[in-house]
Amino acid sequence: MVVVVVGAGPVGLMLASELSRSGVRPLVLEALPSPSLSLKANGVVGRSVPLLYERGLFPRRGPAPRFMYGGFPLDLRRLRDNPVYVQPVPQRELESLLASRAGVPVHRGHTVVALRPSSDRVLVSVEGPSGPYTVDASYVVGCDGAHSMMRKAAGLGFPGVSDDRVVSRSAHVVLPLTFFRRRLRGPGGPYRPYLFHRTPQGVFSFARFGRGPHLVTTLEWDATVDETVPVTVDEVRQSLGRVLGRSVRFAAPAGPGPHVLRRSTARQNRLASSYASGRVLLAGDAAHVVAGFGGPLLNLGLLDAVDLASRLARDDVSGYDAARRPWAERVLASSAEQAALLSPGAETDARRAEFARYLALPEGLKRVADTIAGG
Ligand SMILES: Cc1cc2nc3c(=O)[nH]c(=O)nc-3n(C[C@H](O)[C@H](O)[C@H](O)COP(=O)(O)OP(=O)(O)OC[C@H]3O[C@@H](n4cnc5c(N)ncnc54)[C@H](O)[C@@H]3O)c2cc1C
Repeated sequence: MVVVVVGAGPVGLMLASELSRSGVRPLVLEALPSPSLSLKANGVVGRSVPLLYERGLFPRRGPAPRFMYGGFPLDLRRLRDNPVYVQPVPQRELESLLASRAGVPVHRGHTVVALRPSSDRVLVSVEGPSGPYTVDASYVVGCDGAHSMMRKAAGLGFPGVSDDRVVSRSAHVVLPLTFFRRRLRGPGGPYRPYLFHRTPQGVFSFARFGRGPHLVTTLEWDATVDETVPVTVDEVRQSLGRVLGRSVRFAAPAGPGPHVLRRSTARQNRLASSYASGRVLLAGDAAHVVAGFGGPLLNLGLLDAVDLASRLARDDVSGYDAARRPWAERVLASSAEQAALLSPGAETDARRAEFARYLALPEGLKRVADTIAGG
């Protein structure tokens, strides 16, 4: 059986290593000539984390004592069976760990350009460094990210919404240490790191991962932005000042990057119309994207990969879509709920007061913790 995995992001690499573990040697094709340097996830959150421990990727840790949801701090120690595991790790490092565990080479600089599916195989056209070639595959799995060509080639839709009401800005900065250690002060503060804070003007968070610079993020609703102007650290500083209600001095990090500096005006929430079309399957961002609060996407994608690998090893993928799509639907719903809980206005104040009462109940906290843990 020839399984072609398209894309060597975290999900494609997880799938490759799970397949190798089950005795199937996949062919992994990756368009990029070398691993991407772009800064994405800072960690994995949820039920995939214990699976990473079982596979020896990280030393085992217990569940997280605290987390957040919709701008509420959660004390998970209140739960008898806390399902929320958090593994801090930069995405690049996770990819490199998964690549060394994959047990098969990643063919870099090999771009899949077309698929010709039939009932018992898929012909895969590839542009490689030495020219074009074709692979006769039993299955093709598109782990090729949000703009998935495999999804389009298989004729699968990607319905959903693009939320353009919110402007999100993030930057790596150097905050004065006193702010970080003594908690950031401001009207309504002091504010703790690693949480989303809602103010009358918007939402902000600040955090530090490892020894790197601080990461400041702001969300502002219904703001106008000239997208032709590149984002600057000063723009992020001004945004934080508006959201916090007072100015904060910080510096751009010195030394070699890459450093985060981004602005986003359209948050995508989309789910593939199916995870499978015959012998073409989707996993990870190719199947679902969401303006994730609390980092749900890696968890979702890694668990897609674990589920799909066991089905491919049995040569029966018939239940894959039914098994995995409900989990993504749940993440989309929770993202919408969190966006609603974070949005400005008196109606949200009322909704938050109600939600706080719900979280105070053991079953409320458990439901939210289960949602964060995903599956
Ligand atoms: C700024 C940012 C911060 C994030 N933070 C978090 C977080 O903290 N926690 C979290 O869980 N998630 C986070 N995410 C989301 C997470 O990064 C993604 O969910 C994850 O990268 C998805 O992995 P993937 O393997 O499905 O797709 P990708 O990582 O997009 O990988 C797809 C791969 O396919 C390759 N490819 C594409 N087309 C082809 C082709 N035709 N042929 C061959 N190869 C192809 C691409 O080159 C790429 O390497 C963040 C995302 C961003 C952008």
